[in-house]
Amino acid sequence: MCGIVGYVGSQRAVPVLINGLLSLEYRGYDSAGLAVLNNKNIDVFKNQGRVKNLTDNFDLDSVASKVGIAHTRWATHGKPSDLNAHPHLDNSKTFAVVHNGIIENYDKVKKFLIANGYELYSQTDTEVIPNLVHYYYNKLTNDVEFRQAQMLTYSTRYSSVDDVLLALRCATGDLTGSYAIELLASFSPDQVYIAKKDSPMVVGSGEGENFIASDIPAILQHTKNFYFIEDGELGIVKPDGVTFFNGSLEKINKELKSIEWDAEASEKNGFDDYMLKEIFEQPRAIRETIGTSIVDNAIALPELDGVDFKKFNMIYIVACGTAMHAGLATKSIFENLAHIPTIVDMASEFRYRNPLIDDKTLCVFISQSGETADTIAALKLAKEQGATTISVVNVIGSSITRVSDYVLYTHAGPEIAVASTKAFTCQVTTLSILAMEIASKRIGSSIDSKIKELCKELSHIPDKVKEVLDNADEMKSLAKELYKSKDVYFTGRGFDAYVATEGALKLKEISYIHADSYPSGEFKHGPIALIEKDVPVIGIATNEDINAKTVSNLLELLTRGANVTLVTNQKIENPEIQHTVKIPECSPLFASILAIVPLQLLSYYVAKEKGLDVDKPRNLAKSVTVE
Ligand code: GLU
Repeated sequence: MCGIVGYVGSQRAVPVLINGLLSLEYRGYDSAGLAVLNNKNIDVFKNQGRVKNLTDNFDLDSVASKVGIAHTRWATHGKPSDLNAHPHLDNSKTFAVVHNGIIENYDKVKKFLIANGYELYSQTDTEVIPNLVHYYYNKLTNDVEFRQAQMLTYSTRYSSVDDVLLALRCATGDLTGSYAIELLASFSPDQVYIAKKDSPMVVGSGEGENFIASDIPAILQHTKNFYFIEDGELGIVKPDGVTFFNGSLEKINKELKSIEWDAEASEKNGFDDYMLKEIFEQPRAIRETIGTSIVDNAIALPELDGVDFKKFNMIYIVACGTAMHAGLATKSIFENLAHIPTIVDMASEFRYRNPLIDDKTLCVFISQSGETADTIAALKLAKEQGATTISVVNVIGSSITRVSDYVLYTHAGPEIAVASTKAFTCQVTTLSILAMEIASKRIGSSIDSKIKELCKELSHIPDKVKEVLDNADEMKSLAKELYKSKDVYFTGRGFDAYVATEGALKLKEISYIHADSYPSGEFKHGPIALIEKDVPVIGIATNEDINAKTVSNLLELLTRGANVTLVTNQKIENPEIQHTVKIPECSPLFASILAIVPLQLLSYYVAKEKGLDVDKPRNLAKSVTVE
């Protein structure tokens, strides 16, 4: 997983590349590098660490080139180091490559290259790519028979084939795994070659200049017009245009799509960190996600026209991390409202355990980026087995949206902070709307008045989230008490149990405090042994029917020394509970959207008290595009 950027045009390439890398750092930040064309030579600048190291360590201001490729790395093969940083060159320094993904058969390719006289210096899988391109380029230019055979295989309709492109195609034919590749050839001025499979890549189109990136925000300040590159496609990007090819090297026409996001939407808007900005954006993000899918207190989802919801006998909701918690937080809405058994599964498990699915199964996939590798693989598996697939995704045109039968977009806007906040509440919103739609379609008019009431209720949620945010200082004070803790436990029942799970994940990922969650009734079956004096426990109780039970479980912990904070929208006044955080009242079906907000704030302020980089927590990356 990493971020890649490329530029060809009339400006100096370096500022475009560096700005692009800075906005892609959420995808990986253990090393950074760039390569530019310089008078038939390729100049490479790269080192371990953040993009800032690159600008600090090299005199990039004097680099005049107008063509370049760049990379911010999240190592998969070979530790973070100057040597393993991208770009990688072939032995003759003719070709430079940046790569996002994993070359699964790199060891085999490496042995092949070594047998053919190549030396490989880094520990990366990537270094085989420029050398393999060199191998094929050499063969194409020196071996007439081989060239003719390749021309016949790949370019029957493209007589004046570009030999570098042909060499790149031959090379990718030997590679298994995933890749978004940018390639420079020292002797090909003004152009960047690209190839993609299972890793994201977009090309931004400008006037006399073109841009390449892993995702849209990296180049949004330069253009709003994008080509989305599909698996198996290749391209030659020049200042005055881009030529795209399919896997047979036939030229293809791709549609140029306009994106509504503006560059400002990707910046911090005066907040110290993206995470805090994104937490505070939730009222707007949820409102926009509800958007036109609720009209006159009824569900309107034309995107799902054609789905026969009556035929399904079960639903799988499949996702990873926070997105999976959004699935868990809504599982009971599907079951209670639409009366259909619903299983929530981790994509990384689902894909390898032969799930029982067929054409009567509805599979729902959730991913903020739409690029989560495990979720894409699970989606492909579900499709192969005949399930109907609906995906809930934030990034328009991303890989999952292109594979899925149907797509519902959350409208959270770009989420930059690694710890997901607004994407979660928007996912819960969209999944709730989907559950109501399925209930309407399956049950018919007898549920209309219930749905109407819930639609009304959901429409008020953005204002209620705003009320929670107005009390942010309460969580700031609590953070001052908690930040030195070694362990923090979260607990709740029903919907609240999953809010607890997401709250624990938020805290551990950005504050590095050990945090765990247990359904309240489970504590006494083991975890209660962990409770000792002053251990913080955060309880969530938002459902009138089961609150009393949650509270009595909290008291069991309290009597064993726990320091209890209760997040609730009920009138629970128990003088023994040390802190009570009040949130607005609402249906228990949607309470998770409100209850998670104080927990997001708590995690943020705890991490700030500890002086940590909240937007870029250690060992994590924003979108997990490798398995
Ligand atoms: N597999 C490559 C490496 O480890 C690329 C990883 C990435 O996508 O950042 O260098």
